[in-house]
This record gives sequence, structure tokens and C-alpha cells, in this order.
Amino acid sequence: MDDFNSKFSLLASAEPTGACGYLTVDLSALRRNYAKMASLVAPGSAAAVVKADAYGLGAGPVSNAFYDAGCRHFFVAQFQEAMALRPQLADDGQIFVLNGLQPGNEELAAIHHIVPVLNSFDQVRRWSQMAGKLRTRLPAVLQFDSGMSRLGFPPEDRRELRSLLQSDQGLDILFMMSHLASADEPEHAQNADQLAAVKSICQEFPDLRISFANSAGVFLGDNYHGFLARPGLALYGGAPVGGAANPMQPVIRLDISVIQTRTVNAGARVGYGAAYVASGERRLATLAAGYADGLLRSLSDRGAVFYQGVRLPIVGRVSMDSMTVDVTDLPDNTLSLGSLVEMIGPHQTLEDVAAAAGTIAYELLTSLGQRYHRRYI
Ligand SMILES: *Cc1c(COP(=O)(O)O)cnc(C)c1O
Repeated sequence: MDDFNSKFSLLASAEPTGACGYLTVDLSALRRNYAKMASLVAPGSAAAVVKADAYGLGAGPVSNAFYDAGCRHFFVAQFQEAMALRPQLADDGQIFVLNGLQPGNEELAAIHHIVPVLNSFDQVRRWSQMAGKLRTRLPAVLQFDSGMSRLGFPPEDRRELRSLLQSDQGLDILFMMSHLASADEPEHAQNADQLAAVKSICQEFPDLRISFANSAGVFLGDNYHGFLARPGLALYGGAPVGGAANPMQPVIRLDISVIQTRTVNAGARVGYGAAYVASGERRLATLAAGYADGLLRSLSDRGAVFYQGVRLPIVGRVSMDSMTVDVTDLPDNTLSLGSLVEMIGPHQTLEDVAAAAGTIAYELLTSLGQRYHRRYI
């Protein structure tokens, strides 16, 4: 083996190259976006929502950037996400599981100091039983449905919950929470309805504080913040309110590798189904990422990438692992194997690509997948 290694010493030290692209995450932009959110919601605090692997950007490094900026409340959706994050985060970073307490996770949650968001009487009962079994008090958050019909105690449960909590359940209820359904449409009547519902929840549970706003909710005004806002998307540089100027700093850059270039004549068919047929001589570049990398198939013949400010339209269908762009507008031989073109960056925002794909920034971000080489700067 030693012999082998010395003979092939170059090989042994070689790093694989040729990533399909580079996803660059700017940790200082994450910290600045957190600081901005925290100042917008002051004197309240800002949590960070880091579910779905921090919207696809890597829950560990991303959460630690927020921690460094002062964040101590971290929300994930699923228990497994909390378990994965726990060893990567300092002990005083609290992790909350939005989707509730699944049967069988009680003991792990208690041991690993993971705080469940309790969404039903059954969840309260099981968490309370675990507190009894361990002869300790366990922390919890209560979620209320204020009009989204998704998670949390419905209005008709509040009275019974109040009387249940009058006797000691062995639980430290840290706070309550509720979630806005239409905050990204500031004019939507549902916002005021949910605010009114939250006000009455606060009257019924006067000893507990409430966490309310998501990213967009922060921009609805102070009365929507609660004592703890729960921004996600805005921290990642996404535009919190559709159609309005984006006050957040961009966090990611996505560059895609060129893997082949060619010149085709009029009539050449490009990609699956020959969905694009060249109308004249065109220069094409094949890029190394496709819908398996979150560059959704709906970008076929619609989206574009940029190279030094020049827009290069996607032609034909996006494949699983590649796509083709028209590079005729660039000088000859500008691009070759290994060149990088911009998918998300200074010339094209996350929102631009999402719009071209007919979706929202949330879906695009969380779809990007694991094949890009990730750089945290
Ligand atoms: C995802 C989520 C958030 C964060 O929402 P953004 O719109 O990304 O800011 C906050 N609260 C709950 C309950 C969520 O599910």
C-alpha cells in the first residue's frame, strides 16, 4: 500500500474537481441580516428559523453565524433536524421543533434539551408524562392556530387548555406562538384577522408571551412582532414582501460549470423532445447542473444565466444533470470546459430565478440539493 501511495503520490493527494457548480454562502451577510432583523423587532428579540437544513444552506454553519450575531432561539420543523443540529450548536442555543412532539421522541427530546412546540392535548400529555417519569420539569412552547388551520390548538380548545394548565403539568411553558398565513401580502385581510385572534389568545393566557411574526410579518408593523419574531427567508437574503424592494442583503451566489460548448447550424435540435430548434447558426454551452440540482424543469426555454453581465438564455428543456444555454452573444471562445456562469448573483436574484421558474424563493432555495461545492466565506 505504501508503495502504491508513493508511486501515485500525485493521485493520493488529488482533490476531485469539476463540481457541477459552486454555492457560495456569505456568513457575514447572514450575520448582518440577523442583526437587521433583531434591530427591526427591538425591544423584542429575533429567533432564526433554520428548518430544511437552513433553507438548504447548511443548518450547522448557518446557525452558528446567527449565534455569533446574538441569536439564541433556533426553530426547525422536524425532530431529526433538531437532533442533527444539537451537537453543532452551543448549549445555550435553544432548539424548538415546530412540527410538534411525535410519539417515541419524548425521551430523546428531554435528554438532548430539544424543546417541542406542543400542538395538541395529546402532545402536552406525553411531554408531561415524560417530566413525571424523569422527575424534572421540561420546557415547552404552545402553538395556537390563529387562522391558518395548519398546526396548533384551535380556538375551541383554549378553554380546556387553560384549565389543564391551572394544575401543574411539570412543564415550563416558555412562551406561546402562532403563525401568519398571508403576511407577504400586506393588504390581505387575513393579517388583521390573525392579529385580532392573537390578541384574544394573549388575553386568555395573560401570563405567557407570544412569538408571532415570520419574515414578512416583521414588516407588517410592531403589533405583529410579539416578543420573539421568527424570520427565516429574510435572513437568507430573500425578499420578505413580494413586489416591494428587498431590504435584506444577498447571502448566496450560485455559479454553474460549463462542461461543453458547440456551434450548431440552423435547424439543430437541442435537448430532450427537441423543444428548441435553432433558427440560425448558434453557439451553445452545456452546463453541469439540472433539475436534480434544484434548477427546476420549469426553467426550460424561460430562464437564463449571466456571464460578465451578458444574459445567456436557457434553450430547450432542462435535463436532470445539465442544461443548455445560448452563448451566441459572447465573443468566440469566451467559455470553455470549467468556465463558471452566474445563476444567482449580482445580475440575477433568487427572486428572479424563482419567478422564471414559476415558483417562490423558498422552493428554489430548499431545492438546490447536495451536488454543488459549498463555500462558506
Ligand atoms: C417557516 C416558518 C417560519 C419562517 O418563515 P419565513 O417566511 O421564512 O420567515 C416561521 N414560523 C413558522 C411556524 C414557520 O413554519
